[in-house]
Amino acid sequence: MGASNLKCRECAAEYALEARYVCERCFGPLEVAYENARLADDIPGLRRRIQGGPQNIWRYADFLPLTAQPGPSGRTSSRAALPAGCTPLIRADRLAERLGLREVWVKNDAANPTHSFKDRVVSVASARARELGYEVLACASTGNLANSVAAHGAALGMETYVFIPSDLEEQKILATGVYGTNLVKVRGNYDDVNRLCTELSGERDWAFVNVNMRPYYAEGSKTLAYEIAEQLGWELPDRCVVPIASGSLYTKIAKGFEEWLGLGLVEGELPVMNGAQAQGCSPVATAWEAGHDVCRPVKPDTIAKSLAIGNPADGPYALELARRSDGAIDAVSDDEIRAGIRLLAETTGVFTETAGGTTTATLAKLAARGDIDPSERVVLVITGEGLKTLDAVRGTFESHEIGASFDEFVEQVEGAGARA
Ligand SMILES: *Cc1c(COP(=O)(O)O)cnc(C)c1O
Ligand SMILES: [Zn+2]
Repeated sequence: MGASNLKCRECAAEYALEARYVCERCFGPLEVAYENARLADDIPGLRRRIQGGPQNIWRYADFLPLTAQPGPSGRTSSRAALPAGCTPLIRADRLAERLGLREVWVKNDAANPTHSFKDRVVSVASARARELGYEVLACASTGNLANSVAAHGAALGMETYVFIPSDLEEQKILATGVYGTNLVKVRGNYDDVNRLCTELSGERDWAFVNVNMRPYYAEGSKTLAYEIAEQLGWELPDRCVVPIASGSLYTKIAKGFEEWLGLGLVEGELPVMNGAQAQGCSPVATAWEAGHDVCRPVKPDTIAKSLAIGNPADGPYALELARRSDGAIDAVSDDEIRAGIRLLAETTGVFTETAGGTTTATLAKLAARGDIDPSERVVLVITGEGLKTLDAVRGTFESHEIGASFDEFVEQVEGAGARA
């Protein structure tokens, strides 16, 4: 049981579980396939096994592409190195009320070791890289991946090369360099960085987590779906709102739900899947609006840098999923993103980065448009931490500065009507 092979998404050609990402026959992307049908024979036993597993993504090991058995402690060292997952699912009644909805949950994936959902994908890709004997980890990053690869390399004792666009947020650069990595700032945008890394992956014997290790990397995102279902008591939400950069997270969350539906581990149907992009980089939302099956690449210009992929690898699959799940893919402006960050912070106490502002603003837009039935159970997927994109909230609120004097407080703060 477990992962059986890599399979082409286009022509179904099969390959061994190697560091390989593109089909030799048709150049389609490869995906991990599993032989898990027998797990359906004992659903209560499977649920118990998951619930008794480690408090991280490795509780879902049956659905992840590692081949080695966990060690005597129940985990191999590469799995235990920097555990990701088991992040809070928070019922957000005040947010729901503001939006005129009944049941909204916030899946706060900022609560991962390097404060974004990327720890899930890097945990899986780096563990598989170790199994395949790689000594060097590398990535092309829009920011959060850089943080996570550098940290996992540190935890595993692997050398890392991290390639980023040179204009990334300073917080993300600092939160990467601190782990001790070969940090390469490329003068160009993410798509330029990705092109360089694709070329390098042919020339260096490195595990590029999102290039030659991409099929394994992508599987890590499914654990978000498993957790949501488990945290809702083995039930699915009616709708999920998910940010889209390459489209990997958005499509893999659906893959996770579908795998569990297929086994009978959960019942019902695939949730409506809403994708969220920033207007300054919205190739998928634009194709959706135009009714196209493929995306036309764009040059990104948005404060949501973690979502700034102009040529999204999983764009066509994201469009297909939006159609199949009765969902949609929307884009919001930078001002709406700033407002989304504030709305989430003020109603839930969760401070998210620009990607989460994008998702929250998209939920607000869907609610305002009347696209969400008030009876629905909605999950808002928050993928990153606000402290990494502080510039996005600078100037969005005021404060009172006074001397340490009672009178000044009364006059200038209370007199001004408290809240600046
Ligand atoms: C990488 C990232 C995403 C989405 O990435 P995909 O390429 O679409 O899988 C979403 N939010 C944050 C904060 C990210 O760093
Ligand atoms: Zn193929």
